[in-house]
Order: sequence, then C-alpha cells, then structure tokens
Amino acid sequence: MALTSHRPKKALIIGCGIAGPATALFLQRAGIDSVVYEAEERSDDYAGLFLNLARNGLQVLQQLGLDEEVRQAGMPVHSMKMVSGNGKLLGHIGQMSGEPRGYTIKRGTLQRILREAAERQGISIEHEKKLKGIGTNGPEGVKVSFEDGTLASGDILIGCDGIHSRVRRLVLPGAPAPSYTGLLSFGGFVQGSTVPFERGLQTMVFGKRAFFGYQVRPDGEVYWFGNMDYPGTPTRRDLQQIPQAEWRKTMQGLYASDIAPVPEIVRATEDEIGVYPIYDMPPLPVWHVQSVVLVGDSVHATSPNAGQGASLALEDALVLAQCLRDVPDVSRAFSEFQRLRHDRVERIVKYSRMIGRRKHATNPVQVFFRDLMLPLFLKSANKDTQGWLYDYQVDWSEKVPI
Ligand SMILES: Cc1cc2nc3c(=O)[nH]c(=O)nc-3n(C[C@H](O)[C@H](O)[C@H](O)COP(=O)(O)OP(=O)(O)OC[C@H]3O[C@@H](n4cnc5c(N)ncnc54)[C@H](O)[C@@H]3O)c2cc1C
Repeated sequence: MALTSHRPKKALIIGCGIAGPATALFLQRAGIDSVVYEAEERSDDYAGLFLNLARNGLQVLQQLGLDEEVRQAGMPVHSMKMVSGNGKLLGHIGQMSGEPRGYTIKRGTLQRILREAAERQGISIEHEKKLKGIGTNGPEGVKVSFEDGTLASGDILIGCDGIHSRVRRLVLPGAPAPSYTGLLSFGGFVQGSTVPFERGLQTMVFGKRAFFGYQVRPDGEVYWFGNMDYPGTPTRRDLQQIPQAEWRKTMQGLYASDIAPVPEIVRATEDEIGVYPIYDMPPLPVWHVQSVVLVGDSVHATSPNAGQGASLALEDALVLAQCLRDVPDVSRAFSEFQRLRHDRVERIVKYSRMIGRRKHATNPVQVFFRDLMLPLFLKSANKDTQGWLYDYQVDWSEKVPI
C-alpha cells in the first residue's frame, strides 16, 4: 500500500450520527478542519429510541466538555435488576452507590448534543448530502460525489456512516457484510405512567417468551425495549412496512403472561413502537485504504446487548484524531488507529453477541435452563466488575508513541 505522506489539513466526514461530530470536534483540536456530510434531510432529534451511554463513553464526552449535558438529559444507571417472567429475582449487576455504569439517554438527544457542540465550534455540517461515489482516493487526497450531483474534495475521508456504510462498500468491496443476529430490538416510551420510579435502577425481565427492559424517569415516563426472534435478513425498511397495529398485537402477545408492569407498559404505549433488526459486523482485517478510514459502526458495529456501540464510536473519534495529531504520515496514523482499537472492539462485539444468546430463550425448556444458569453468570459478571468494559480510559493529552 502506497504511503500517503501528507499531513492532512481538511477531512471529509461522512455521517453526522455519533462518530461523525465527535471526530470533527477532536480533529479540530488536532488542527484539522472538517466538513460533516449527512444523508438525512435534517437532523431528527427524536430519531431512534434510546441508548445506554456507558461510563467509558462518558469519559470521552467529558474531554469535550459535554458530559454534564448528557448527565442532565439522561438517567443514571447504577444497577440492573434481573427478574424472570414470573417475578423470581435472578440477580443484580452493579452497585447503587458510586459512579453510575452509564446514562440512559434518547438517541436523538445525544446526537443533538454532539451536533450542536460541533456547530458552536464553527464546524460545517451539510444535510441532504448522501455519499454516492469516491472518484479519487490516493496519496494526494480524495474526491467524492453525492447523490445530489455535487462534489467535494479533501485530504482524507472518514467513514462515520454507520453499519451499512457506503464508504466501506466503496473502498472495501470484498469486505464481509453485516451479519444478522436473528433478533429484533424494539421499544418505545410511555408518558405519565404510575410505574414506580427507582433512581439509578434499570429492570430487565427475562420473560417467558421474550426479553424486556425498562427504566422510569422521576416524572413517570417509562423508556422500554425488548428483543424477539425474527427470521430472514430483514432491513429496517421491511420492518417499517409492517403496520404498527400488527407490531402492537405481536408484542402484547409476547409479554401477556409476564410479571407486572411489563404487559401494562406495552399496552400503554401510545406513540410509535420502533422496531430495528440487529446486525453486527464480522471482523474486518483492514480498516483503511489510502486516504480513507472507517470509524464507529461502519467498521465494528456491535449488537446492543452490551450497551457499548455509541461509547466505542466516541473512543474511536478521540483515538483517530490523536493518531493524526501525533503520527506524521496518514497511512501510518490510520494503521496505528486500527492497531490501538482492534482488540478492544472485537472483544466487545463477541461479548455482546454472547450476552444476546444468554438472554434469549423461546420455549419453556430453554427458559427453565436459562433462569437456572443466569444467577451464576450474573454472580461472575458482578465479581469481575467489568472494569475492562467500563473503566477503559482514552486520554487526549497522552501522546501516541511513534
Ligand atoms: C436498537 C438499537 C439499540 C442500541 N442500543 C445501544 C446502547 O444501549 N448503547 C450503545 O452504546 N449503543 C447502542 N446501539 C448502537 C449505537 O446506536 C451505535 O453503535 C452508534 O449509533 C454508532 O454511531 P455511528 O456514528 O458509528 O453510526 P450512526 O449513529 O449509525 O450514524 C451514521 C450516520 O451516517 C449517516 N449516513 C449513512 N449513510 C450515509 C451516506 N451514504 N452519506 C451520508 N451520510 C450517511 C446516517 O444517516 C447517520 O446519521 C444501539 C443500536 C440499535 C440499532
């Protein structure tokens, strides 16, 4: 692979989800200007459901001065209480005292916080710019085209365009495609419920037919999600074409015989129930080609079970900018980025898949064995405190060794 020995001055960033604006903010600190191109018409601050931003992701936001906004907008998660569908306590993960494991926050809110921070710093964000092609990718830089017929050029291109990344498909056409886990994730919000509020507690119900999780805000709003088996390889669009009334019926049936308040929460959901197919990425041997590099879900999307995808995207953003700041050659900087990140992200992708399999059971025999084995698993998960996941630190002030 030819070396791209220029020091980049201008980055084109594709995607304004989580990795995109975070990368632009760190690059600015490294003296590199960015333009962020987002396919969507406008930023939807209500897009998606909610996510768990883990402590390791929050420490990256702290270095951008954005952690307090997330704390204010989100709900702390200190402990997860695990119960079976008939109400038997299976165990707890985490302590109610000390630092929370993370914060539950609406996805659109987290995206807004990052986007507004980038805008405040004068970073240009262009909407309705769906990447179409990469015309040139060489040591001298990149030229790209968008679906609206416009062009852009820069010294480097950073693919922050999520799991179905167009950047990845263009620069690594032979790379493995995202792999469907066989599960859907779905959920919604219920306003003004009477479900009791317990600060810092998320409840996970290993139901008789499907998994269910919820957390309640002090004002009674419930954030809930669930998982179920689903055949084939559905796209989000396929699922959106199924009428909401049908999803409601399916979900009410799935949880009908589980412990209160699960069936009540599903029944009381008036707004749309969001349904997502869960894919993750098989390991990619290469994360960069010439002046193009992949970041976040575009290169290592993980299933949501470990609650780490957004945090990994934030860690990536900091480490990539650090490498471009400290390593005086683009190719070497990208290689160093991959080297520093590879083992951690692949370990988490595998771990998250494993959790998905453990919590999943669809017939009474599987449910019996799962509920028998889970307390043991939870005990060991609690013992190792999962420091490798949550206490991982990336520090902007540290120099990348050359
Ligand atoms: C149901 C569900 C639950 C989840 N729960 C959690 C959780 O609890 N905790 C957690 O940490 N993570 C969770 N995740 C994962 C998390 O959402 C992702 O890991 C995170 O959003 C990755 O950020 P990203 O910036 O890499 O990609 P994304 O957030 O997907 O952003 C990609 C952006 O690129 C844009 N784009 C796509 N194609 C183009 C194109 N051709 N041109 C221009 N722009 C383009 C998209 O519109 C989007 O704005 C969950 C995911 C799902 C689906």
